[in-house]
Amino acid sequence: MDFGTDDHAEALRTEVRAFAAEHLTPAVRARVAESGNYHDDAFHQAMADRGWVGAHWDPEDGGRGWPRAYSDVVYEELAAAGAPVEGLAITQIIGEAIRRVGTPEQKARFLPSICRGEVLLALGYSEPASGSDLASVQTRAVRDGDGWVIDGQKIFTTAGSIADHVFLLARTDPTVPKHAGLTLFLVPTDDPGFSAAPIFTLSGQRTNTTYYSDLRVDDTARLGAEGAGWEIVNVALAFERGGEFAAQLRRLVEAAVAWARTGDHGTDPRFLARLGRAATSAEVARLLGAYASWSRETARAGAVEGTIAKVYGTEALQRASSALLDGAGVEGLASDRTNESPAAELQHLYRESQIATIYGGTSEVLKTVVAQQRLGLPRPPRSSSR
Ligand SMILES: Cc1cc2nc3c(=O)[nH]c(=O)nc-3n(C[C@H](O)[C@H](O)[C@H](O)COP(=O)(O)OP(=O)(O)OC[C@H]3O[C@@H](n4cnc5c(N)ncnc54)[C@H](O)[C@@H]3O)c2cc1C
Repeated sequence: MDFGTDDHAEALRTEVRAFAAEHLTPAVRARVAESGNYHDDAFHQAMADRGWVGAHWDPEDGGRGWPRAYSDVVYEELAAAGAPVEGLAITQIIGEAIRRVGTPEQKARFLPSICRGEVLLALGYSEPASGSDLASVQTRAVRDGDGWVIDGQKIFTTAGSIADHVFLLARTDPTVPKHAGLTLFLVPTDDPGFSAAPIFTLSGQRTNTTYYSDLRVDDTARLGAEGAGWEIVNVALAFERGGEFAAQLRRLVEAAVAWARTGDHGTDPRFLARLGRAATSAEVARLLGAYASWSRETARAGAVEGTIAKVYGTEALQRASSALLDGAGVEGLASDRTNESPAAELQHLYRESQIATIYGGTSEVLKTVVAQQRLGLPRPPRSSSR
């Protein structure tokens, strides 16, 4: 793979930085801090108006046919600026699944409107008793005439209170081995059978418990074949796990450099040593992420490249933010979420990093995936219990 860049990517980088300077206003930051949703409608619409949502999708899907690397530049620059891009990231992950397994009608219905910024989606996999062991989900979808009736509860449905649809993993056949009895649905959140309740994380980010009560959808809400849910989730997970955390590491390093430039902090050799390690980690994470993205686009390697990038990036973010926050001493205690000082940013990133090794698959579980898929170590026998 060529890790080099081209003139268009560099020009795009400059354009995205200027966009962030213009659109990431104090009002947007205040709305995000207030709601806890790392998404802002006006900011998202401005991105869509530039053609940056689903830009790497085919023109018939509403995209611009860009190489994936250009979309990565947009994401990296916006995330490094602290922009609210979680709604963008989640919606694009689900869009990738729709592109691969959706019917022509589903593609026409969702993909161009996602690109226009009109549709926001949320991932509805996890349940209170089914996180790492995702195949054990209990939310039921039962056939009812031409449609389905859905009942159950999901947890950590990020963006669930603002999304238009939830990409919902449900059990449609409890009589077969657990991986085989799952089906995916695109469930509308304006149905009276849907509700969401907030969960706030250590960094003030909002995720949700979502409830599905006698929620009726017709069969056009089913994405992919009945019983194919497990395979489709794995397609989507391959797009969820990647190098996104490199941008957070860069943001951390930039905040630490800004802090070091104040007073005489920049002369502390212990802080500088920590900063050097963080900057090195940020570069390694960036390269692993670029390799994962290239592997995905060219199908030269499996999804394990993204898993490696996710594990490395999130664990490096935890190590580096802990070391740098500690190095900032008492100034790192500034915790007001509207405080944009470099020290407050260090603390915010430290708080955010604590959950990064959990969502999208925990580090413990993902290391097992790497051991099996990259190192060829044996899998434990699959349980057929439900
Ligand atoms: C902020 C946040 C946002 C999230 N957003 C979403 C979302 O949008 N949609 C969604 O569906 N889910 C979301 N999740 C859920 C996330 O994917 C799960 O929390 C995660 O997969 C872990 O599941 P669990 O919480 O049930 O923990 P468990 O699976 O109960 O794990 C508990 C502990 O046991 C360890 N463990 C479990 N199994 C193994 C094993 N086989 N080997 C070694 N160790 C193991 C884990 O590593 C962990 O340390 C989010 C979570 C968080 C915290």
